[in-house]
Amino acid sequence: MNHAAAATHALSIRDLEPREGYARLIEAKDEQTGLHALISIHSLQRGPAAGGCRMFNYARIEDAIYDVERLSRGMTYKNAAAELPLGGGKSVIIGDPKTQKTPELMRAFGAFIEHLAGNYYTAEDVGVSPQDMANVAESTSYVAGLDGGEFASGDPSPVTARGVFLCLKQTLKHGLGTDDLSGKTIAIQGLGHVGMSLAGMLHKAGAKLIVSDINDETVRLAETEFGATVVSPDEILHQDADVFAPCAMGGVLTADAIDRLKVRFVVGAANNQLADETCGQRLQDRGILYAPDYIVNGGGIVNVAMEILKISDPSYRENRISGLATTLEQVFARADETGEPPHMVADRLIERRLA
Ligand code: NAD
Repeated sequence: MNHAAAATHALSIRDLEPREGYARLIEAKDEQTGLHALISIHSLQRGPAAGGCRMFNYARIEDAIYDVERLSRGMTYKNAAAELPLGGGKSVIIGDPKTQKTPELMRAFGAFIEHLAGNYYTAEDVGVSPQDMANVAESTSYVAGLDGGEFASGDPSPVTARGVFLCLKQTLKHGLGTDDLSGKTIAIQGLGHVGMSLAGMLHKAGAKLIVSDINDETVRLAETEFGATVVSPDEILHQDADVFAPCAMGGVLTADAIDRLKVRFVVGAANNQLADETCGQRLQDRGILYAPDYIVNGGGIVNVAMEILKISDPSYRENRISGLATTLEQVFARADETGEPPHMVADRLIERRLA
């Protein structure tokens, strides 16, 4: 970290009233760079708060506050589900990442993080790249997701994909009594960083793949490399398959989508897959076993956590990743006992870990 860079930013920082149950909500503005950012700290119960930084052109400050608080609470649950000694936090920078992001703005954002003296660690999220994080790191050391440096964790996606893969096998084992993937059909929505890596692992394990992406190039690659069947983005939700794996965007499991699913299991990387609280029950009513997203996709934060906690022993990563599948099985077993949908059981289990 370059303290001189931090000192040049005359930030205006103030605490706002957080939503009930949240630890802090802090706003920073910097006239010189145009920075307008928020950090939400939901919980410090398990350790310093950790969660990525999103840059998005929110129409209203209320929208940015809603998003940062929702995401910060999600990080508390995700970090606890992965059994990490980290609390939940998130940050947003208000602005268009394509036109308003500059190295100076990111350095000013770093100075904002430095102001919180280690209570919050940031990393990349939507609209923010490893290069941006390198700029942030010039003003603070409370940053992860860097490409270089002693504990640099780099792209977390392959680790996330491995967690999804293990959780998918665990889900099959719970539902079918076997985790053998040969001959099973998996419908993957989104072949980005995580989806493509997952597709490779599933193909190697003998699964048949049906894939979809809005990017033609990536689907063609999956077609040639993995013999995948390509369908349009509209069709992927309604394929005859064993598993639907959402690996694109959140909110895909709407009531309408659930009614048309033709799978027995849903296991994927996307964040916030359930469009609303009622959708978890709806999946259960249709006899579809849903693996709660924040358990399944915890591999990325495990990778980032190793950088934050300065751990280089790969067994730490491997134990936490296989632990995701163990936690998932605990959730399924409890859901069988109580008859509640897994997403509710998961929240309850994590709340006990937090208590
Ligand atoms: P990405 O941006 O690399 O990939 C997303 C892919 O989805 C892209 O190829 C995009 O073209 C495609 N896509 C977008 N809309 C689509 C649609 N309607 N139909 C089909 N495909 C569509 O993102 P990623 O890093 O692979 O992450 C995927 C999801 O997993 C995201 O929801 C992300 O928040 C979540 N996640 C990622 C990580 C990680 O380590 N990268 C960790 C936790 C959660």
